Amino acid sequence: MTVERTLSIIKPDAVAKNVIGKIYSRFEDAGLRIVAARMAQLSQAEAEGFYAVHSERPFFKDLVAFMTSGPVMIQALEGENAIARNRELMGATNPQEAAPGTIRADFAESIDANAVHGSDGPDTARTEIVYFFGEDALGA
Ligand code: UDP
Repeated sequence: MTVERTLSIIKPDAVAKNVIGKIYSRFEDAGLRIVAARMAQLSQAEAEGFYAVHSERPFFKDLVAFMTSGPVMIQALEGENAIARNRELMGATNPQEAAPGTIRADFAESIDANAVHGSDGPDTARTEIVYFFGEDALGA
């Protein structure tokens, strides 16, 4: 059994829709535990730093503008295979391609306003958890 932690963000579109609780229920029903959480209004520098890997992509400027357009809810999730499990719950990046019953299929409108972020692997999960919560949130 691999107990992992992953970084999740409920993006401004989903916070505006008032579905934080519904999304949290999906995490909990799937066996993921919220071990750190905070609501934040990201600054431009914080959003740019978080998405630095995408800085050369054509959508980068719009992505940063979107992520700073309103409050986000940031959490670290813990559970068995938490990284992959959260990605399954989220669904595909483009909500039009996301499987029925996934968070993006149910709550997202478009590829740029797609409701949630989730770390895509162990290295990014560690980096992203430390980015928002510091080393202590990495767990044992
Ligand atoms: N994104 C976008 N346009 C694109 C591709 C991605 O606006 O053509 C945004 C989208 O919000 C996505 C984020 O950039 O969630 C990061 O992209 P990634 O490919 O890492 O997708 P994710 O891991 O979020 O599914």
